[in-house]
Amino acid sequence: MTSVNDIRSTFLDFFAKNGHEKVSSSPLVPRNDPTLMFTNAGMVQFKNVFTGLEKRPYSRATTSQKCVRAGGKHNDLDNVGFTARHLTFFEMLGNFSFGDYFKEEAIDMAWALVTKEFGLDKDKLLVTVYHTDDEAADLWKKIAGLSDDKIIRIPTSDNFWTMGDTGPCGPCSEIFIDRGEHIWGGPPGTPEEDGDRFLEFWNLVFMQYEQFADGTQEALPNPSIDTGMGLERMASILQGVESVFETDMFRHVIDATASAVGHAPTPENVASYRVIADHLRSMSFLIADGVLPANEGRGYVLRRIMRRAMRHATLLGTNAPTIFKLVPSLVREMGQAYPDLVAGEAMISETIRLEEERFLKTLSRGLQILEDESTGLGKGDTLAGETAFKLYDTYGFPLDLTQDALRLRGVSVDQTGFDAAMARQKAEARKNWSGSGDAATSAVWFAIADAAGPTEFLGYETEDSDGAV
Ligand code: ATP
Ligand code: MG
Ligand code: MG
Ligand code: MG
Repeated sequence: MTSVNDIRSTFLDFFAKNGHEKVSSSPLVPRNDPTLMFTNAGMVQFKNVFTGLEKRPYSRATTSQKCVRAGGKHNDLDNVGFTARHLTFFEMLGNFSFGDYFKEEAIDMAWALVTKEFGLDKDKLLVTVYHTDDEAADLWKKIAGLSDDKIIRIPTSDNFWTMGDTGPCGPCSEIFIDRGEHIWGGPPGTPEEDGDRFLEFWNLVFMQYEQFADGTQEALPNPSIDTGMGLERMASILQGVESVFETDMFRHVIDATASAVGHAPTPENVASYRVIADHLRSMSFLIADGVLPANEGRGYVLRRIMRRAMRHATLLGTNAPTIFKLVPSLVREMGQAYPDLVAGEAMISETIRLEEERFLKTLSRGLQILEDESTGLGKGDTLAGETAFKLYDTYGFPLDLTQDALRLRGVSVDQTGFDAAMARQKAEARKNWSGSGDAATSAVWFAIADAAGPTEFLGYETEDSDGAV
């Protein structure tokens, strides 16, 4: 079986052989970009190289980049456990050309890697191109021999990448695999594209224009390449399993969860095991990169992830700290590729254990209140927004956790009421704010909070630069 670790090294070695410098993953907290919550794509560490602000001693690079998409513009938190392909933490494999090779070589290498090294069946593959990108369509025909019906022209921004309002931009081309009729879904560009039958696994971005503030674009003299392939998605394909959660790495973590909770997954509760495994990865890597649970900003996103995992652990019947016990299984799986995880193991476990203790203390009271306030509510009913807010404010229940707890009963939450209660409290806080006396700082923080919208005070929501490929 091709393990996740094998796939990562096959990818990196292939591009190294083709003249690319192997570069380490950058941290999940972007170094030079306060507007971006977490690193969410391979190109983030190279932004200044693409714009020409920074020079590197190489013009081709390849990475396996740690990514978190659990906040900001790319937020896959609610997808986890419900689709076969979304994780909050994943590794993005990438190859990059900084004004070196362009479209033809990028497509040529991608096709060789996918069909020769990984040995995927060419007849199951299809690609998308931006609707006006005849050059890419012709190259796919010439290099891969794909027929016209396997080259789908997409007119939306899904296939046109921009770094921000200004800067490099260009069309992109994505590779999909048809996993068979037994899985629901349609090809890209159809209303059923969000299903899991046609799985997107690689995005090739052709940075060929520069976008100016006045809306005009000019061709770049030295166009660049940025690509991103989901490692876990490729593993699910090569291992012949239907979801990323059935790949070797996740199986081992899920086995560890099963021994910690004392029973194996069933079809009814497997989503909880999956959420825990995914969230274990995000929380451990975030903590290793210096994020700690808190009530605002990045720390709050981490806390939500942690509490959600903890809630699912209680659904599996635990009432004592459990998730911290899974850290060794994760370190065993990923420690070799990510030495920071090994170095941080004790600190990660301890941070998780403390948060679990804190959470379990308030959980039972919170759940009791939720129980009391929602008695009599059934399918189609709505819980008052005020109540959801009280749970959030007093018991540290993020809104999504309350929604999650009620989902099984078909009860929803009055979001407008929740938002109103949150807005009221914020207005109160603002009135009482004395802060550091630094008017500029508090103005910035309130602006960020307002931009974030009342539902979630995430901070950093002003993100407008796109790190994703
Ligand atoms: P999707 O449409 O499935 O949400 P995307 O178009 O948002 O994916 P890109 O921004 O193009 O993804 O990222 C490049 C690649 O990274 C994707 O082709 C996929 O293989 C991988 N990827 C993206 N999001 C996730 C995720 N949440 N979990 C696992 N892999 C992901
Ligand atoms: Mg997405
Ligand atoms: Mg997509
Ligand atoms: Mg994509």
